[in-house]
Amino acid sequence: MTTHIVSSNMIPINKPWIGEEEKREVTSVLEENTLTTAARDGGKRVRDFESQMRNYLKAKHVLAVNSGTAALHAALLAAGIQQGDEVLIPSFTFVATANAVVAAGGKPVFVDVKKDDYTIDVSDLKNKITKKSKVVIPVHLYGHLSDMDEIAEVAEKHSIDVIEDACQSLGSTYKKKQTGTFGTMGCFSMYASKVLTAGEGGAISTDSDELADKIKMIRNHGMVEGYDTRVLGMNLRLPELSAAVAKVQMQKLGKMLEIRRRNAELLSKMLFPSAKKSGIKIPQETADKKFNWYLYTVAFENNRDRIKDALAKDNIGATVYYSPPVHKTPFYMQVAPGTKLPSTEWCADHVLSLPVHPHVSEAEIEQIANSLQAALEK
Ligand SMILES: *Cc1c(COP(=O)(O)O)cnc(C)c1O
Repeated sequence: MTTHIVSSNMIPINKPWIGEEEKREVTSVLEENTLTTAARDGGKRVRDFESQMRNYLKAKHVLAVNSGTAALHAALLAAGIQQGDEVLIPSFTFVATANAVVAAGGKPVFVDVKKDDYTIDVSDLKNKITKKSKVVIPVHLYGHLSDMDEIAEVAEKHSIDVIEDACQSLGSTYKKKQTGTFGTMGCFSMYASKVLTAGEGGAISTDSDELADKIKMIRNHGMVEGYDTRVLGMNLRLPELSAAVAKVQMQKLGKMLEIRRRNAELLSKMLFPSAKKSGIKIPQETADKKFNWYLYTVAFENNRDRIKDALAKDNIGATVYYSPPVHKTPFYMQVAPGTKLPSTEWCADHVLSLPVHPHVSEAEIEQIANSLQAALEK
């Protein structure tokens, strides 16, 4: 991720929406002195959070863990990834998707994305499937929706599992169904920049009793009753302090997503004329694909970096996600040498994300649109 110098009046690309309710709940954890528990079902607030998330997603099981990376790692272990199994993933994602694959012993195989919505390109996915393919991880980047029907069809035909990386897409829906509920498992993150935060945290959704059972073991050193390690596991437990924040955030999720939508729709309305005139591409929902507006990402035919700098001068924290793409980082150039993904490489050079989080006011949205338009006309 890019590091930047953030001045105090900079509008950051994302910022947690924390209020008195979170403070009260965290304080009560401290007062009760129940900071965490290694019990199989987790602490009281972990269980509360999981139940809220189950209801929200309409998933049979939700298991909390301590990061989105841990969620992906645990899901891959639960899927039974063996050394050398191939896991198909986009390279246009946060590196955690790939790191989890390598940590689980799998071999990442990078698939290109579509330039129109930055999600996995199903025709390239078909090209990359081999006899060793075991899992595909579509990433719902920016809260956009991967083509889940087409992916399910390919996966079924080749008997590969679908694990969704829904770390950026809590609240996004495909045909009115929540992301994370299409694959055998869905992985969520509660990192500070995400639409719902616990500081650090994560969760896995699944409708399978068997997988839920395995994940409960994996997040707790493979144990079931005391020191009886049955499978490889680690300490992936979510502490009660984080669960306290997550639990309160769940109650505010609808409101937070509503403000994001208001901001995004206003921004689209303001940018629409320039979008037609100056060849910039703004994000577009469809009847089937509704975004959580985690990131409002624009693609510029030209001058992306110049426009980013102009916005920064106006105190707008516009940010590039992600450049370089994963396959161009030093480590993954060794893991998957010679990988070429033309659309991914184009996206990494042309996209820019704009802030629409709940702290951004309507006046600031106008400021962002005006600053961007001024930069385009230079
Ligand atoms: C944030 C993120 C992750 C990892 O989540 P952490 O909670 O930071 O470990 C994985 N994949 C994507 C696409 C993400 O945005």
